[in-house]
Parts: sequence; structure tokens; C-alpha cells
Amino acid sequence: MADTDTPRIVVGIPREERAGETRVALSPTALPQLTKAGFDIVIESGAGDAAGYPDSTFAERGARIGSRDDVFAADIVVQVNVMGADAASADLARLREGLIVVGAVAPFARPKLVKAVADTGAVLYALEMVPRTTRAQSMDILSSQAAVAGYKAVLMAANELPKMFPLLTTAAGTIAPAKVFIVGAGVAGLGAIATARRLGALVEAYDVRPAAREEVQSLGARFVELPLETDQKEGSGGYATQLSDEAIKKQQELMAKTVAASDVIITTAQVQGTTAPQIITTEMIKGMGAGSVIVDLAAEQGGNCEPTVAGETVDIDGVMVIGVVNLPGEIPVHASQLFGKNVANFLGLMVVDGAIDLDVDDDVIQQSVVTRGGDVVNNRVREALSLVPLPELEPPAPEPAPDAESESPEEAAK
Ligand code: NAD
Repeated sequence: MADTDTPRIVVGIPREERAGETRVALSPTALPQLTKAGFDIVIESGAGDAAGYPDSTFAERGARIGSRDDVFAADIVVQVNVMGADAASADLARLREGLIVVGAVAPFARPKLVKAVADTGAVLYALEMVPRTTRAQSMDILSSQAAVAGYKAVLMAANELPKMFPLLTTAAGTIAPAKVFIVGAGVAGLGAIATARRLGALVEAYDVRPAAREEVQSLGARFVELPLETDQKEGSGGYATQLSDEAIKKQQELMAKTVAASDVIITTAQVQGTTAPQIITTEMIKGMGAGSVIVDLAAEQGGNCEPTVAGETVDIDGVMVIGVVNLPGEIPVHASQLFGKNVANFLGLMVVDGAIDLDVDDDVIQQSVVTRGGDVVNNRVREALSLVPLPELEPPAPEPAPDAESESPEEAAK
């Protein structure tokens, strides 16, 4: 807790500049927690409008409303999408030595942006780098936003499907429930399973991680067993490791029957920091009934389906393949609320005796930093930029598995 003589730490929240973004990096609900921890908030006028949070809702909770320049004059700037989605963002000129920037960066997809931020002397924290450990769950924006996306993907599919989801027994006969297949049972996948079950569908799911079986079954779905010899375990940071091309081919052969029998498929398979595994081929989709719907959540990482185009819907013999982008942006009230809570928890870890301590002994903070002291300090990003790797200070501590067993995505999202 800050004492009264310590200067307050100012956090600036700019209006998001990425096209179509409706979220805001902090919702008013997160303000009291930050104020109590020693932060003052300045928010760009109108930054919360598209998320359903007008300026007055921030002002009522003690935030100052200002211009974009006021916001970038803060000690810390928080954005949903750091520097929009563009290495040439006009905001780069607003960065300065020592300014702390926090948000989603996509550092491996945008290494040049990371370098451009480093050149300004700003300290950049990429929230995607927060480890997937039990302790870090409350700061994990990928999890909170994926839970929202999994929910919305199912609603989207249900809306497009020319069938109902639940079993219905009526005087005019019985309607069979829709068959929904979820590929990848991580956070988004488990959220999708829970939503499809609530709507009354028959749900099947598959994941390469054997640990996913129990999680799938606990939500009332059937786990599709594919006799793949993959030796899959969680890799570093609680993520799966990549399958070989040969294993993916085998996976496709074994999965074709389940795909053909499904009315709806939601694909969410990913290995963090890599392009999405292409699991469902156009040929497999041609085996599905006309009117079936696929929502590919991995569209922005290249897609889990061969014909996926990010941001577009492709028709394959009457099967709709929807390459969704930014689904959390379609539910901005709650997506922003969860994002803001993650941010508030993250910033709280950096405060020691009322001041920011960049050297705080905390793995969440230290694993998330990507630029500091005018340099790119993450070795994977350095590799993408062909920079000489920095010496690793100490080997990363072994990561416990994600805590999905004890906490459902809905619980984690609270
Ligand atoms: P996650 O890491 O929690 O889950 C991904 C799952 O895929 C893991 O359980 C992993 O074991 C599994 N997997 C990896 N390779 C596989 C394979 N070959 N076959 C089957 N399963 C495999 O990730 P998440 O947070 O749930 O996100 C899932 C995807 O959704 C990501 O691509 C993410 O970027 C995307 N996403 C999209 C939006 C959007 O709006 N479009 C929003 C949030 C997340």
C-alpha cells in the first residue's frame, strides 16, 4: 500500500487504434483496486465508448479524462493492442525512455514493432508472455479472452446452423440434437464445450494432450480417442508441443469420420508462438453435410482448416468455414472487464513500497518483459530479428501444469 508522501504512479489508457477493436484495456470495475495500490488513472476521452463504458463511468471512480498526449505522459500506458496492430503506429513517437507499456503485443508475429519500441527506450511488457501457471492465472489475458471467444464461437455457429442444437420432443416429432466437435480442448475449447452443452448439443472433443480427456469428460462431452503415438505432454508455460507433419497426417486420417458426422466444428488447436496446425483439410470438409458450420478460432494464426481465411467466410460445398478474428471484441463489456482485472493484478505485482520496481523478484513480471534499456530482451524475439541471443540468467523453473482441472474456464474468467 502506498504511503501518502509517495508520489502516485500514473497509468494512462488510450483509445484503441486497431481497426474494429471495441475493447478498452481497463474497465471502471478495476479502478478501485488500482487506486488502492497507489495508481492514478488517466483515460483518453472516449476510450471506453465502444465497450459500453462512457467517460463518466471512469470519472465516477476517480479517473481523470484527458487527451492522447496526456495519456502517453503517464508512467505506464496500458493498451489491449500495443501500438494498434501496426509497426508504423503514430504512437511510437509518443514513447520515451523509461515509459512502461503493457498489453497484448504479439511479439513473435511483430518482432519489428518490438525493436521499434526498444529503440525509443520504453520498457515493454507483453501480456501474452505471462506464464500459464496457477499463480499467474489471474493475469493471463490469453485465458480470459479465450474463454470469451470459445463462448461466442458456439453462439455464432448456432446462429448460422440451419438446425437446432437441443434434442426436442414435440407433438410433431422428435428433433435430434446437433453434433458439435471441438478440436483443441484448451481454454477456448473448454469454454466452447461448456456453451455447446448448455445449448443441448451432443458434444465431442479432441486434444493431443492426454490430460485434456478428463477435463472434456467433466464438462459432459465425449473425448474422441485417436490412437496417435505422440508422447504429448505440456511444454513450457503450460502449452502443448508441436506435432510432426507425419503425426498431423495420421491425425487427419483418424479424424475424418468424426468430422464428416459433425454439424458444427469449433477449432481451437494451437501451440503458442507457432502457426496453427492445419488439422482439417478441404477434402475432410467435403465429407460433411451441406449446411454444416465450422468456426476456426485459430484463423489469425493461419487456421486449423485448410480453406480458412482470417476475417472471411468460405463456402466449401455448402459448408461454411468462418475464419473469426477478435471474437472478444464482439463482447466488449465483459472482455474489457476481464482484461482490466488481469491488468490490475499484473500492475499490482510491480509495486514495491508504493513505487514501480522493474527488478521485482517475480516470474510473471520477469517473463513478460520484451524490451528494456533500449534493447530487445527476449531471446525468441531476438532470434526473429537475427540479433545475438542474450545470456540466460538462470534456467527457467519447471512450470506446473495449468490448473484447468480445478477451475473451469468460466470460473477462471470470474
Ligand atoms: P490453449 O493453448 O489453451 O489451447 C489450445 C489447445 O490446442 C491445447 O490444449 C493444445 O493441446 C491443443 N492442440 C495443439 N495442437 C493440437 C493438435 N494438433 N490437435 C489437437 N489439439 C491440439 O489456447 P487457447 O487460449 O484456448 O486459444 C486457442 C486458439 O484460439 C488460439 O489459436 C488463439 O489464438 C485463438 N483465439 C482466437 C480468438 C479470436 O477471437 N479469434 C480469441 C481468443 C483465442
